[in-house]
Amino acid sequence: MEWTGGCLCGAIRYEASQGPNWASYCHCTMCRRVSGAPFMSFMQFPEGAFRWTQGDSAEYQSSDGIIRKFCSACGTSLTFESGGMAFIALGSLDTPEKVEVQRHCYTRSKLPGIQLADGLPQFPGPVGGKGGLP
Ligand SMILES: [Zn+2]
Ligand SMILES: [Zn+2]
Repeated sequence: MEWTGGCLCGAIRYEASQGPNWASYCHCTMCRRVSGAPFMSFMQFPEGAFRWTQGDSAEYQSSDGIIRKFCSACGTSLTFESGGMAFIALGSLDTPEKVEVQRHCYTRSKLPGIQLADGLPQFPGPVGGKGGLP
């Protein structure tokens, strides 16, 4: 399987039969807090392409209708789920370098010391469209 990933300790694993439709960097305050990092990146795989292959993740409701899944043993952030859609944390992939990230969102919450020089589109809040995609 070309697209695989999982948590730091290896208890939780997943795979996807196709590459992600898109990926975004998210600078929102909740992604910052949940990861302990200045920002996160999430991606969405085509419908039906993604599946868990090992382990059970714990979950936390971070805001109305938003569930974040993580490994209860090592704490790795794995997904962000909203409106029946699951977005996977890019950093949990075995080969994150293969993903082309398309945009930055929630840049209104971006830390002031972070200078974005990649030329990607920047959205002050969520990217428009269905379900307020990150
Ligand atoms: Zn783990
Ligand atoms: Zn976020």
